[in-house]
Amino acid sequence: MSGVDTGRDTPHTGGDGQAPEPDAGVDVLTARDVPLGGPRAMTVRRTLPQRARTLIGAWCFIDHYGPDDVAETGGMDVAPHPHIGLQTVSWLFSGEIEHRDSLGSHAFVRPGELNLMTGGHGISHTEVSTPGTTVLHGVQLWVALPGEHRDTGRDFRHHAPNPVHRDGAVIRVFLGSLAGDTSPVPTFTPLLGAEIVLEPHATTTLDTDPAFEHGLLVDRGSVRMAGTLLRGAELGYLGPGNDKVTLTNETDAPARVVLVGGTPFEEQIVMWWNFVGRTHEDISQAREDWEHGTRFGVVEGYDGDRIPAPQLPTTRLRPR
Ligand code: MN
Repeated sequence: MSGVDTGRDTPHTGGDGQAPEPDAGVDVLTARDVPLGGPRAMTVRRTLPQRARTLIGAWCFIDHYGPDDVAETGGMDVAPHPHIGLQTVSWLFSGEIEHRDSLGSHAFVRPGELNLMTGGHGISHTEVSTPGTTVLHGVQLWVALPGEHRDTGRDFRHHAPNPVHRDGAVIRVFLGSLAGDTSPVPTFTPLLGAEIVLEPHATTTLDTDPAFEHGLLVDRGSVRMAGTLLRGAELGYLGPGNDKVTLTNETDAPARVVLVGGTPFEEQIVMWWNFVGRTHEDISQAREDWEHGTRFGVVEGYDGDRIPAPQLPTTRLRPR
């Protein structure tokens, strides 16, 4: 178990008067469609990383998918594959996914329940939508581990937050603190992750940590964040220096968003395939270990072959 929380006992809110200048401007980041490949070729909408932005806090990957009719798409079937240097966060709006990993975890990912897997030095896992799933809809997020913890041991956590009701909003805090609720799941850097459902035309103002930068992914509806209108599948980015953020549902139907945040991640990372490292050599070693080694353990109970690593590019991978 890791159980390390570097964020909660360290003041990081600029209490010495050195808080950064507020920046009210919201950048709108649009998604690109990415086919995940494999026998059942799901397509996801990826808003992070992209050219304009690599990270929001330690959040380094935001994939948004569905609602997909699995009778049409075949659902999700991701064979054994490895991870290093990151945590995966699975959060569903609809459907169910069976998770197995080389720690021995066997869990079901369900709507409104956090499943957080820590890859650390090396883990492998599978994700398969269950036969009872008719509509698959959710997000897959990655968190980069800070240098001092990136080789930590494998871990798996589950948490079903109690919904917080306020101002026509229903808020589920799966990581960090918001609206008076705090997730018990520890993080390696100060982080926030929450689902917010807004009633038609509801406005809510949430207290935020001014040391955090934030991202708002719109799943359904059109939502104004700090004055900027965001449409479905867009990601709004708000920099540090804000102790509040106001969200307004501009539509006649319920809107749903995912709010992520964290203190700016100070390290450059190298992301390639399923790996987060610091250098080309980190990645190339992990690739070699997946192809030929025992570093990532074995996933029991999956019927099928593992995913081979793609070829590395012919040029060196560069940090960003
Ligand atoms: Mn994975």
